[in-house]
Amino acid sequence: MKRRSGQDRSITQHWRPATLAVRGGTARSEWGETSEPLILSSGFTYDKAADAAARFAGEQRGMTYSRLQNPTVEMLEERIALMEGAEACRVQASGMAAMTASLLCQLQTGDHVVAGRAAFGSCRWLTDTLLPKFGIATTIIDARDNDAWVDAIRPETKVFFFETPANPTMDVVDLRFVCGLARERGITSVVDNAFATAALQRPLEFGADVVAYSATKMMDGQGRVLAGAVCGTKAFIDDVLLPFQRNTGPNLSPFNAWVVLKGLETLDLRIRRQSENALKVGKFIEGRVPRVLFPGLPSHPQHNLAMSQMDMAGCIFALNVDGGRSQAHAILDALELVDISNNIGDSRSLMTHPASTTHSGLSEEVRLQMGIDEGMLRISIGLEDPQDVIDDLDQALRAAGL
Ligand SMILES: *Cc1c(COP(=O)(O)O)cnc(C)c1O
Repeated sequence: MKRRSGQDRSITQHWRPATLAVRGGTARSEWGETSEPLILSSGFTYDKAADAAARFAGEQRGMTYSRLQNPTVEMLEERIALMEGAEACRVQASGMAAMTASLLCQLQTGDHVVAGRAAFGSCRWLTDTLLPKFGIATTIIDARDNDAWVDAIRPETKVFFFETPANPTMDVVDLRFVCGLARERGITSVVDNAFATAALQRPLEFGADVVAYSATKMMDGQGRVLAGAVCGTKAFIDDVLLPFQRNTGPNLSPFNAWVVLKGLETLDLRIRRQSENALKVGKFIEGRVPRVLFPGLPSHPQHNLAMSQMDMAGCIFALNVDGGRSQAHAILDALELVDISNNIGDSRSLMTHPASTTHSGLSEEVRLQMGIDEGMLRISIGLEDPQDVIDDLDQALRAAGL
């Protein structure tokens, strides 16, 4: 690999976010290709045995094995780090691999974690089932309540873990307060930023320590690959995360890294247009159903907080109907354009019933505590003409008696 301008921080530090999304991290091979090269190779070779020894000793820069480094994967890591404003980033095979790694790499038996109650279903499984199995206690709180964070702290509290906006109830967490509190008490804050991405919200600017991603969602943005990422200080990534990641192997394949690199080139365009579209659809839906949960709308109780920490509100929102599962399913079944799908952040508009899909693995008690009832639907607005999405929802709501 020769020209590494996209990886030279003395050059990239002057670039603005939209430029970084297109060019950050790019390294070119001897062929001078314009698009990022896809290096599908599990291992690498050495001219001399001494070179192999030097690379393993960390004395010579270069690749050894794709569980440890890969040129295409490194381009993605550098691009995400630059966009996030982080010193370093490592990518993983999925968002859940990223969440698991970001927690397990720094926790041990006897530690305590405080986590937001509204969360992606598998994130709740990590805090409710996996961590306690290893003797790591967790306290689940209403993450919107700043006092609840203060009250939950114990001497052994090691990590605050939350998402904002949170899936699927769209709870917003006060980043400046919660991350500031964590700093003050020597606790590491881990923020799942999948809904917003660095294009709309940069938790590190509010004092977060670690930002973790499902890159499957907005970053790929076209429903193709699973991917995850963890960003933080160089010390956290190199000394805490990397020993865990390199030895347990939740690595992202170079092919998937390449797909996400191409996705990031259009992230800024997509997320802004999709956020605009979502606002239009949200305003329409608001008059038609009993409740819409969308931080982008003034009716959301945390609208002001959301807009003080996000550039735009993103493309995902939830709504409630009074007729429970049968009415929610009737709306989904009547859709002609919007797909029934549990994915989010795609260029296609997608709608799901969380209680029977993404959050069906949780007990009803936990679901209700999170605010997910049988009449809730979640929608992710895509890049279609928003009027076509509105027309489709209009006829589907009518078909379901609304
Ligand atoms: C999808 C999602 C995850 C999990 O990511 P995968 O890529 O599906 O493993 C974690 N957190 C949030 C907020 C998500 O939306």
